[in-house]
Amino acid sequence: MTHKHPSRRGLLGASAALGLGGLMSLGGLGGCASPAQGPSIGRVVVIGGGFGGSTAARYLRMWGGNIDVTLVERNPQFISCPISNLVISGFKQMADISRGYQGLQALGVKVLQGEVVAIDAQARKVRLGDGRELGYDRLILSPGIDFMMEQVGGLAGAFERGDATHAWKAGPQTVALRQQLEAMADGGVFALSIPKAPYRCPPGPYERACLVAAYLKQHKPKSKLLVLDANPEIQSKKALFEKAFQQHYGGILEYRANAELREVSGKLAKLEFEDVKADVLNVVPPQRAADIAVKAGLVNVNQRWVGVNWLTMESTAAPGIHVLGDALFPGPLMPKSGHMANQHGKVAAAAVIQLLKGESVNPAPVVMNTCYSFVTAKDVIHVASVHQYDAAEKIMKTVPGSGGVSAAANQIEGRYALSWAQNIWDDMLAG
Ligand SMILES: Cc1cc2nc3c(=O)[nH]c(=O)nc-3n(C[C@H](O)[C@H](O)[C@H](O)COP(=O)(O)OP(=O)(O)OC[C@H]3O[C@@H](n4cnc5c(N)ncnc54)[C@H](O)[C@@H]3O)c2cc1C
Repeated sequence: MTHKHPSRRGLLGASAALGLGGLMSLGGLGGCASPAQGPSIGRVVVIGGGFGGSTAARYLRMWGGNIDVTLVERNPQFISCPISNLVISGFKQMADISRGYQGLQALGVKVLQGEVVAIDAQARKVRLGDGRELGYDRLILSPGIDFMMEQVGGLAGAFERGDATHAWKAGPQTVALRQQLEAMADGGVFALSIPKAPYRCPPGPYERACLVAAYLKQHKPKSKLLVLDANPEIQSKKALFEKAFQQHYGGILEYRANAELREVSGKLAKLEFEDVKADVLNVVPPQRAADIAVKAGLVNVNQRWVGVNWLTMESTAAPGIHVLGDALFPGPLMPKSGHMANQHGKVAAAAVIQLLKGESVNPAPVVMNTCYSFVTAKDVIHVASVHQYDAAEKIMKTVPGSGGVSAAANQIEGRYALSWAQNIWDDMLAG
């Protein structure tokens, strides 16, 4: 192995792999804890104040040599999907997963609450629902996912009436599902439907199953949790989740593979060969890139996802628009996770700064992921991976031997998981 002095760009790639706050030492990029001063070098609009967009907005201000950054988010505050399964099961409160945007504002990010309804890639401007227009030199879009309601008959109506909930975007749905679970009688049936992969957070539904079962075991032990998985098997940390199901939730949790939901009627879940009557019906619907990406003509892979150039995160459908997070067609084995969206945000922020300065971008970005899952209120398992740009294939590839999973569920990782959440919220929202 040869050792060279790392170039600034090399450091950038390496420090993207360091993840949270890993680029603080990059003096050459204006890398310091306070935003750079001086004349503006460009206008960037960021759509979506979730994991990807907030991170990009923060790091543009920190590294940018003074970039005019406007973040547009429809919701008044950030509410985290990670840790939301603990709220549903009663082990945490909504306040524990909610944060404001004051940290970003203190860094000089202009935060606008509003809905972006149109993107004009030619004229380089976006329009908000209230008619406001914002011009940009570069646009960063991290809008998350929306649901493919058309794939499950009756589902849209069931969500509207409250016969079914998804709680796959944290907020009022998280509260609704918690209330339904609390209101369910002991002896009731909670059905959780999981769509075919790919979907947001591969281990998320199995974590939810464990935590709902933990609540039932403690408070309503005569009840049943049916996990109706459209996939042929558990999609992440399979052996560890199977062990948790058996060890903690035998007699309460029943897992059924290849159980794809076709239709919802009232609280009846219609599968291919059977109907399941639920007291609480929790449906995680099939997903695609969020509506605004579809509207803007950015969805160009499998009619579901956005393709990007991984060196810059720039859309392969429209120049000047950088797309992050769950909306992407990912690299092999790259999960749709908050941690990964945070990493995309850092790669995009660095690339946008370099493009605005007329510099060349990092030729070898590296990103990493860790996903923790609670299998009880205290015991946690993780999966981790590192992904590196492959110049020949122009994709992000998993670095062999880089990742792995926990040997067994344990309480130390329970503490790590809660710290991970606090740290990543601090990292993306600047405190
Ligand atoms: C139950 C559950 C548990 C999870 N647990 C974990 C975990 O432990 N670890 C982990 O890493 N990941 C976890 N995830 C996944 C994680 O939440 C997502 O991968 C992450 O949120 C993706 O970030 P994003 O920026 O792509 O989208 P989001 O974080 O969803 O952000 C998108 C934002 O864009 C806004 N928006 C969309 N369209 C518009 C528009 N037109 N105008 C204005 N604003 C708009 C939305 O309001 C939203 O705030 C979990 C997910 C779920 C559902």
